[in-house]
Amino acid sequence: MLKILKNRRFCKTLTPSEQKKVKPVHKLTGMIHSFETFGALDGPGVRFVVFFEGCPLRCVYCHNRDMLDLVDHSMMTARELLEEVRDYKPYFGRKGGVTVSGGDPVFQPKFLLEFLKLCKKDRINTAVDTSLFTSQKVLDSILPYVDTFMVSLKHFDSGIHKCLTGVPNEQILENLRYLSSYVGTAKRPKAKLRLRYLILPGYTDTRSNLSALRKFLREVKFELIELLPYHTHGVYKWEELGLRYSLEGVKAPSKASVQRIKKMLEKEGHKVLLNE
Ligand code: SF4
Repeated sequence: MLKILKNRRFCKTLTPSEQKKVKPVHKLTGMIHSFETFGALDGPGVRFVVFFEGCPLRCVYCHNRDMLDLVDHSMMTARELLEEVRDYKPYFGRKGGVTVSGGDPVFQPKFLLEFLKLCKKDRINTAVDTSLFTSQKVLDSILPYVDTFMVSLKHFDSGIHKCLTGVPNEQILENLRYLSSYVGTAKRPKAKLRLRYLILPGYTDTRSNLSALRKFLREVKFELIELLPYHTHGVYKWEELGLRYSLEGVKAPSKASVQRIKKMLEKEGHKVLLNE
């Protein structure tokens, strides 16, 4: 662990200009990066995936690096966005719907809430893919309108979490515990929590982090955990933006190591999905 922290090459420290860019935007008009119309990997069933711009984190391995900064040319109202989704409603079936991803949707909390409310009014199933690095006030506001929360667990050591993402983990874990006490209760009996866990060799697959993961999973109530083996498909985006990719040389985990982690979690009674 200490070795990772000492290795400054990997540490993410936000520059002053980045610090300005990671403050949430409270506007009713949204900044949208792009859509994916028949998503099969971002929530239950067939999904219309909307990628919001902006994120309060700066993960060193981010494969959507081009979505983290706000670009004004893609402004939309929540109603305009809903119209985009509506055309695909016939394909959603019983389970599918819209997934709001990014970036991180909680970076534009007012717009997110507005859009989720319209979706629910239109009886569209909603999923939100988020880091949960947000205030409890924002979380409380969107809770009644989200059917599935998809939350990425990054690292259980707050120092290393900060090193990898630019922010500590306390608020995220606190929000996760709060969410876990809410979903599936009388308030939202059908709401679900899905966890996501990136297997980043040498960082998140260490014995101590996996042991902290197992302990945490015993504490919270969730539907399933998705394992995401690290890949380098998004590195070209960093290069295109003229940014240095600091995990250069880190390879994808071996199939054997991914299977070992999967089996370990299944043995604990968890439902595990491999998302490759
Ligand atoms: S939270 Fe997701 S979108 Fe934001 S920087 Fe990290 S990996 Fe990228």
